[in-house]
Amino acid sequence: MKIRLLNDALAGKIAAGEVIERPASAVKEIVENCLDAKSESIAVELEQGGIGRIAVRDDGEGMDKDDLVVCVQRHATSKIEREPDLDRIATLGFRGEALASIAAVSRLRIISRPRGTEQAHEIRVTAEDVEGPLPAARAPGTTVEARELFFNLPARARFLGTPRTEFLHANRVIRRLALSRPSVSWSLTHGDRRVLEAPRVEDLPGRIGQVYGAEVARAMIPIDTSSEGIRVSGFISQPDLRRGNRRDQLFCVNGRPVSDRGLSYVLASAYHGILRSGSYPLAVIHIDLPFEHVEVNVHPRKEEIRFAEPRRVQETLHRALQGALSSRYVVSPLLLASPSAQPAVETAKTEISPLAFRQKVGTTRNAHEAENVRVDSERRAIGQLLRTYLLVECLGHLEIIDQHIAHERILFEQLRRQSRQGEVARQQFLLPVRVELPFESATLVAANQEQLERVGIVIEEFGGGTFLLRAFPSLLAEAQSRHGFQELFERIAELLERGKKVSDVLFDRLLSELACGAAIKAGTRMPLAEQQALVDRLMQLDNPYTCPHGRRIIFTISGEELDRRFGRT
Ligand code: ADP
Ligand code: MG
Repeated sequence: MKIRLLNDALAGKIAAGEVIERPASAVKEIVENCLDAKSESIAVELEQGGIGRIAVRDDGEGMDKDDLVVCVQRHATSKIEREPDLDRIATLGFRGEALASIAAVSRLRIISRPRGTEQAHEIRVTAEDVEGPLPAARAPGTTVEARELFFNLPARARFLGTPRTEFLHANRVIRRLALSRPSVSWSLTHGDRRVLEAPRVEDLPGRIGQVYGAEVARAMIPIDTSSEGIRVSGFISQPDLRRGNRRDQLFCVNGRPVSDRGLSYVLASAYHGILRSGSYPLAVIHIDLPFEHVEVNVHPRKEEIRFAEPRRVQETLHRALQGALSSRYVVSPLLLASPSAQPAVETAKTEISPLAFRQKVGTTRNAHEAENVRVDSERRAIGQLLRTYLLVECLGHLEIIDQHIAHERILFEQLRRQSRQGEVARQQFLLPVRVELPFESATLVAANQEQLERVGIVIEEFGGGTFLLRAFPSLLAEAQSRHGFQELFERIAELLERGKKVSDVLFDRLLSELACGAAIKAGTRMPLAEQQALVDRLMQLDNPYTCPHGRRIIFTISGEELDRRFGRT
């Protein structure tokens, strides 16, 4: 017979390999236990990135002498009992294998004292033997210490990164968990360096500030949408703030940090056209739904989950993101909530009534009154810089808007709406405009008559590199006539050349070419009233932040930033 049963120690090591991949996974399991034990404060200490030592202290429920002996055995758990429990898991752990796995591949020591009792106990475990429980001294709560991870598993140890790399992984685990539980106090020490100090906070923005810094916290936009038992809430970054990778995106499903391709995809697509490709938003998104709608038992490290109805969750997320990103307020309400901001503005709400705002800016409106400029919105144009940028005051912040890109965006959206409805308003020229292009370009333009008509351009082939332009979209005709048609058609010919067949992408490019041609140019002086009108129209768009190519339209300098630069804070 060639088949034999593995001895317990070897089987344990093999099983441990699935759960404990590296120090960060041990840290995750140990800390999840602290949270399941309802701890209010968790202190993590690492040495050599956790390879040398991981020590976690909590002030949770604790374990008595008997529990201590059992907790390190495989399939030992206090979290589920019967099969139906698997359908509605409310704790982070449930598999009963983390401590057993850590014990199999390290030198483990646990000291614990249950809440409301006087005596602590300690056990020491390695794959080979168990020592204890022996009486020990400790405040209520539990300390778990794992030394020399993988000391008995050289194959695994060889695959570990440098202590620095392993530390970065563990650090990320702690930060994600900290973001998932703002009401818990966290600290993380590496060697003799304190790398995170996050006392409990009331709300997520506070925690985001502790983890990513106050600047980031201020640049986050809230989301909050509920539908049929699914609630999506949290914070996502303004288009100005972005990262080069997805690492700062966190989804917590019923309090559990998870990675989920579907959710990531929805997040990415919400920023499509707002961020360039290769840029990623930051996000801390909590999704809460009935426990029985989530299957958590699909991954040994519990990093992935399965939704009973993924589409519904994705749709709710999508709606929450759309709502926040198309909100007309570029300035994050968080910004206003910072202590130095005026409390007069109702900060908790995303919507700020124009009336309330008008009262606030009342004294500064005189210049506009003199020029007869109506200020309806919360944005007040205050002038032009380099005849290219509009300076705008908005809720105590300075916004700088690129006039050309803003106008292009407005025209593009209008034109696209018209062409989608199949009714681009055209202006007929009484005298057709002659456009002369190199022979091939002219032929190409003429050959695409039908496509051009879809966007409101009517031409007639004249021969010899000349064609006659008979009608043009009314929206753009006047401005374009001033700028001339020659150059525009050269660019259109180029587009057609490259695109050959007119696809939707090409069609959008064509629209943006037209919008660009007619939009007010950089270097053009604009009266204040026009500036204001442009700003107001821009703000009516679904996405006023960036043009279809991802170019930035609005750049915000917060009032706070200005105060800081001038040493007022
Ligand atoms: P699981 O978390 O899946 O139940 P673990 O192996 O992680 O399995 O832990 C086994 C048990 O040990 C837990 O169910 C819990 O009762 C107990 N335990 C572990 N860590 C702690 C802790 N920090 N405080 C209180 N009890 C703990
Ligand atoms: Mg556990």
